Amino acid sequence: MKEKIVKTEEEWRCALSPEEYEILREKATEAPFSGKYWDTTEPGIYKCAGCGQPLFKSDTKYDAGCGWPSFTAPMEPDAIETQVDTSIGRVRTEVLCSKCSGHLGHVFNDGPSPTGTRFCMNSDALKLEPKKEDNTNDS
Ligand code: FE
Repeated sequence: MKEKIVKTEEEWRCALSPEEYEILREKATEAPFSGKYWDTTEPGIYKCAGCGQPLFKSDTKYDAGCGWPSFTAPMEPDAIETQVDTSIGRVRTEVLCSKCSGHLGHVFNDGPSPTGTRFCMNSDALKLEPKKEDNTNDS
């Protein structure tokens, strides 16, 4: 069990941008094709914008055509938690950061093989740490 980051709503408000706060703490969804990462192909690691926990690797990111950054799998299974979300009148699976319980997005079962899963995330719930340039010849 991960150690949880617990802050008051006031502390989160101070720590996050208004957009980040709305998504991570109030479970808002950014408009499709509006976020900063929906078409990003830069290599790196996507971390939680709330607590910095590494969540997704760029090599699992793919263009799902939906306008949100989409991934086939989290970096580590325990980086995320899921729960049932019936807020819009149908059943969806909400994805949360396992460390700060921030709302990240939803996961759907219409992704590419082999996993068939599409982690449909909000750009403002994530922070891309670009892969460092290195001179080693390991490619
Ligand atoms: Fe987090």
